[in-house]
Amino acid sequence: MEKDKIILVLNCGSSSLKYDVIKMPSRESLGKGIVERIGNEKGILEQKVKGQKYKIEEKIEDHKKALELVIKAITDKDTGIVKNISEINGIGHRVVHGGDKYASSVIIDDTVIKAIEECIDIAPLHNPPNLTGIRVAKELMPNLPQVAVFDTAFHQTMPPHAFLYGIPRKMYEDYKIRRYGFHGTSHRYVSARALEICKRDVSNTNIITCHLGNGASITAIEKGKSIDTSMGFTPLEGLMMGTRSGSLDPAILGYLMNKGMSIEEVMNILNKKSGLLGLSGISNDMRDVEAAAEAGNKDAKEALDIFTYRIKRYIGSYCAALDKVDILVFTGGIGENGWESREAICKGLENLGIMINYEVNKGIRSKETIISHPYSPVTILVVPTNEELQIAIDVYDLAFGA
Ligand code: ADP
Repeated sequence: MEKDKIILVLNCGSSSLKYDVIKMPSRESLGKGIVERIGNEKGILEQKVKGQKYKIEEKIEDHKKALELVIKAITDKDTGIVKNISEINGIGHRVVHGGDKYASSVIIDDTVIKAIEECIDIAPLHNPPNLTGIRVAKELMPNLPQVAVFDTAFHQTMPPHAFLYGIPRKMYEDYKIRRYGFHGTSHRYVSARALEICKRDVSNTNIITCHLGNGASITAIEKGKSIDTSMGFTPLEGLMMGTRSGSLDPAILGYLMNKGMSIEEVMNILNKKSGLLGLSGISNDMRDVEAAAEAGNKDAKEALDIFTYRIKRYIGSYCAALDKVDILVFTGGIGENGWESREAICKGLENLGIMINYEVNKGIRSKETIISHPYSPVTILVVPTNEELQIAIDVYDLAFGA
């Protein structure tokens, strides 16, 4: 019989730490929480266990203090998740960049830590806090197996014609400039769920997964393998997002710099001030932009149209990249909840075999559902993503040989 294991999943950002305690193999979340404003005067930890809330507000100077508080919250005798920290059997870390070294999750040892360090150059904002999380967890819970689950790993199956840019090969050889792709854990999780929901075999199924959140990306999956994805060397490429521009003519960068802007200013605009926010002038949040468009704001309406149009174009191009498409999946905050976006995206794609059932689609929020017509050649699904669960599954499989 399979033995129960309790996995602590950690997702460390520069000033935040999200955690989830998941029981395996039953896949049950026992409780989760978030520490925010690490390094600020007033830090905050909020935990939810079966509807019960637990909150700590105090100065949290660094990630070590944050994890100490997480351990305290998890083991709180009234509102905790486990009685004793020794009940935790393994730890899973979300790591953004694994470069071209890791095509799957790995048990963390010194070699893995070195490889994550080597990727700091290409992921300067994300890998350092991920590494801090690993170091601190090792210090506080030295005897537990720890696993790194990379955002980039799932896309390592992309062939060179999808991952190389049309620039001198030397730039790839010297600087590792290539397309890596991100959101891999989410694309992997929802595509695996899609196979289960549709009772299909991986060996004869092709899927397009749309992860539409504040960050957004689309992946073409052939027989379980990512063969192309819309994000590239960084998460800036591809779809237009909440604040990111997505793909644009790279000559614009040089043009703006010739106008006197620094590269930092240009990158800040493209990453933080563009997308839905930049075009609507209202918000990066889809609900705000939709509300403004509804109220007659033309810029907001145009921002929505651009968002939708880009996604349509990607779906079309991935229909061309895959020799046939069986399933189209929507996930992420917008993909899971935004039925208006799903409707607008699918409208006009009937010639590609994508036939949404407008009535069924309308009410669906955050629930695994088939939203296509029974006669649609492509099955369209809403699948809420669960990256934490995928990380826990990986820890269980790797550390306990399940
Ligand atoms: P992140 O990339 O930060 O994880 P999420 O996946 O949580 O983001 O997605 C956030 C986006 O989901 C926001 O643009 C938000 O407006 C959108 N969203 C959430 N609920 C709805 C809804 N009911 N209708 C439309 N969009 C929604």
